Amino acid sequence: MPNRASTTTSNNTSNNIVTNLARLHESIDQCARRHGRESKDIRLIAVSKTKPIEDVQAAIDAGQKDFSENTIQDALTKIPAFRHENLDWHFIGPLQSNKTKHIPGNFNWWHSLNRLDIARRVSNTAVEKQTHVKVLIQVNIIDDPAKSGVAPDELSPLIEQLLESDLQGIRLHGLMTIGPYGVNEGEIRLCFADLRSLLESSRDRFGMENFDQLSMGMTQDMEQAIAEGATMVRIGSAIFGSR
Ligand SMILES: *Cc1c(COP(=O)(O)O)cnc(C)c1O
Repeated sequence: MPNRASTTTSNNTSNNIVTNLARLHESIDQCARRHGRESKDIRLIAVSKTKPIEDVQAAIDAGQKDFSENTIQDALTKIPAFRHENLDWHFIGPLQSNKTKHIPGNFNWWHSLNRLDIARRVSNTAVEKQTHVKVLIQVNIIDDPAKSGVAPDELSPLIEQLLESDLQGIRLHGLMTIGPYGVNEGEIRLCFADLRSLLESSRDRFGMENFDQLSMGMTQDMEQAIAEGATMVRIGSAIFGSR
């Protein structure tokens, strides 16, 4: 009896994931259209943190290709299980210096660069492994002490240092932010607009052609992010349920 009950639960969960993904694609589509954009320019990154392998598999079966994790420990229990699938893994959490060696080879994208020394370590491992990692710099738009990321006025100095260091194992592709909590939609949107203008000004100032990715928008603030030009949205609970 307990076995049958748990099988039923797991089928329900995977049905929900399929339904949730379909709904989410529909709402990204509508949202894009409302803001004069095309949904093909918005990459949906499924945030599978804390969720089991079965949930990731259900999303893959529904056609999902991009997944993200926010701790190395949790990620290393999942990524190896899907080596045969052609997935893109994104690292979106804070990265400690003793974990940097796990990024290259496991993750194609790293969204949370905020320190030169950590970037150098990731790059060195990538070079050793003859690979590279696509990187976004995390910006703490409103300088919230509870969040990581560089303050807006620290962004240019960091990019300058990164470019001077000529790190061969990483490629700078854009910026990431986490929207503020507990403020109204207009204020959220202003933060995302700030990130977009930082992207544009950095690209111009440093002449970085491929600096064109904006990772912003989660379940609660996806609409505001898409309105302000998000190219990647990171969605967890709308796909996998609450955590
Ligand atoms: C958990 C997390 C998300 C997803 O949040 P949801 O509200 O579940 O969509 C996105 N980005 C980061 C950095 C996260 O840690």
